[in-house]
This record gives sequence, structure tokens and C-alpha cells, in this order.
Amino acid sequence: MTLNAAVTPREVHRTAGGSAVEAATDRAGGVLLYPLLFAPILQYRLWGGRRLAELLSTPPDVDGPIGEAWLLSDRPDHQSRVVAGALAGLTLGELLEEYPEQMLGRLAGRFRRFPVLLKFLDAHELLSVQVHPSDEQADHLPAGETGKTEAWVVLEAGPESRIYAGLRPGTTPGDLRAALATGAIAGQLVGFTPKPGDGLFLPAGTVHSLGGDLVVLEVQENSDVTFRLHDWDRVDPATGLQRALQIDEALTCIDFDQGVLAPVRPLLEADAPARRERLFDCEQFCLWRIQGELPFTVGAAGLPRVLVCIAGSGEVEHGGASHPIGFGDVMLLPAMVGECTVRPRGPLSVVEVALPEVPATTVADGPPGSAALLGVTAPEGMRRT
Ligand SMILES: [Zn+2]
Repeated sequence: MTLNAAVTPREVHRTAGGSAVEAATDRAGGVLLYPLLFAPILQYRLWGGRRLAELLSTPPDVDGPIGEAWLLSDRPDHQSRVVAGALAGLTLGELLEEYPEQMLGRLAGRFRRFPVLLKFLDAHELLSVQVHPSDEQADHLPAGETGKTEAWVVLEAGPESRIYAGLRPGTTPGDLRAALATGAIAGQLVGFTPKPGDGLFLPAGTVHSLGGDLVVLEVQENSDVTFRLHDWDRVDPATGLQRALQIDEALTCIDFDQGVLAPVRPLLEADAPARRERLFDCEQFCLWRIQGELPFTVGAAGLPRVLVCIAGSGEVEHGGASHPIGFGDVMLLPAMVGECTVRPRGPLSVVEVALPEVPATTVADGPPGSAALLGVTAPEGMRRT
């Protein structure tokens, strides 16, 4: 990767962590950011498989089940690192601290950390049956954490694949406790067989699980707060123990009034030069899927955007330079980059993620994302009751 040759001079910037990087600057000495590619962080999970090892361009050199690849993470314990260009080696957190305006544009100063977390999940087996608190349930949130609304885009699915999302209508806390006591919890859950391309929106408070050789892209609030209701009586081979459950906390976070959830119906925004569909639009994130073979535009002036390549390959052009992107790659377009052209090499499919304009801690009351989602993209019969 080369930066625009007209950019001068170069100078050394020292980050808060003490590492020195050589970054391109403009004539006024401001750092010039560029489309930033990050390395995935692979995570052991007992329910995981080996599919991500086959799919990612940098396969891991470890054995065992890999359930999650964190594509873009600004967590204290898991920091995504830039892999290419003058800023290679810097973490997302360091970039935000060092270059807040260049990274976030008019969103600078609004977030303590990058507000969304992006992952691939390879659910060979079923995940635990779990629920996440909402931004408003402060009693259940450790200091500095937000709630966790999340959404999935299905990349690979087979006949054994299963998604559970929500409770059967009319289920009470007592019904759920009784089902947990007998292990018959699946009978209380709404489940379906997903297919590649399905998008599922999971507001905080939704009981959920997925598995059966299912690979999804997950976008979620940057939170690690999960309450497990049930873990299929599994013993984790890594510890010889069953994983802890948090049934009481889970029960207080569940939205028992939620209706049946189903895959969203994408909103078609454009069909040329590429097909652009909006899948999710909520207070925590917005996500489009863009598919095509002709050059198309991504990014937004003065705002950061994140691209994830979910099929094919191509180039992202910016400032006279060309940045290759292939399956599984995540590329952050800093706010100062703005719009860029994506040039596909054959059929290409990417998702583009926009950040919330309002921090989660000040999100107004109301079901996260429901108004925008149900008003725009919900299929007939999907409305909550
Ligand atoms: Zn979850």
C-alpha cells in the first residue's frame, strides 16, 4: 500500500503507548488517515468450529474450535490492530486517542470507545441460550459498559442450522423457569432454519441462540454483558466444567412482551451501479449490504464507516492509492477519508456499517431500534405485539 505521492512531508508520530510510527501528513502537519485494514482476533469457544480458519485470509496456527473472529474491537482486553500502511501496528484505541477528529469527524468526543464491535461467529454447535441487558438497565451494567443490541447477517447455513430468537408468545417467567428445570427450553423458544443472506435483528432483551454449522457476521454494541439461561448441559473440555449460568439476571432482562422475530426484509435503496440494501437501522448502528460487479461508492463525508467484505474481492480507492479488500477483511474508513470508490474484481459483496450519532448512555427510552426497523424493513406479520 502506498499513500498519495503528493503527500509531504513525512514525520514521526509517537503514540500514547510509546510506539513510534511514521505517518503521512499534510502541509499543515495534520496526519492523513487512509482506509484502515485490521487483523482479526480469533477466540476459542467450545461451540465453535474450524470454518473461520478456512475462510480468513490469515489462517490461525492453533488447533481446536474457533467460535469467534473479532474483526473490529476496541475492548481493553482485545484491541484490533492496523495491518497495512504507515499506521500498521497501532490499535483502534490508540488511533481514537491520537486522532479523534480525523477518525470520527463530527462524532468526535461522543464515545468513550468505538461504539460497535464486529465479529464473525462459526457456530458449529448451539451457543448458550442467552440474553443481554439494554442500555436503560443500568443495574445490570458494569461501569463503563453499555447494553447489547446485536444483529446477524447469515453467511453460511446448512440443513442442520438453527436460529432461536425470542420466546413463544405468552411465555411467562414461571413457564421459563419450569422449562429450564426440565431442560426442555427449546420448546419455549421461537426457532427457524436460516439461509445465507438472512438478516436478523436482536434487540437487547431478546432470548437467543444459534448453531448447527452456521457462520454469521455479527454487529453489536461494544459490550461484553451476557446472561446465560441454559448451556445444553455441556462440559467445556478446556476446563472440565460446565459454564456458569445467570438465570436470575437473565430473567430480569428478558422482554416478555416481545413478539415473534423473523428475518428482516431488506430495504432496497439502489440497484445500480450496485445493489444497495439497508438491513438494520437502529439507534446503535445502521448496516447496508452492497453487491455488484461495477464500481460503487461507500463512505460518508465527515463520518466514519466500516466495511466488511463478505464475498468476492476488490479494491478500495482513496487519495490516489488502491487498498485491496477480500473475503473477511474489515476496513475502517476514517471520517477524514469520506467517500471512496470500491472497484470489484468480479462479483463482490460488502456490508457498510454506520455508527450511532448519539452515545448509548444517553439513548432515549424505548425499544432499541424497533421504530426504524419495524417501520421500514419488517416483513408483513412481523410487528411486535
Ligand atoms: Zn448474544
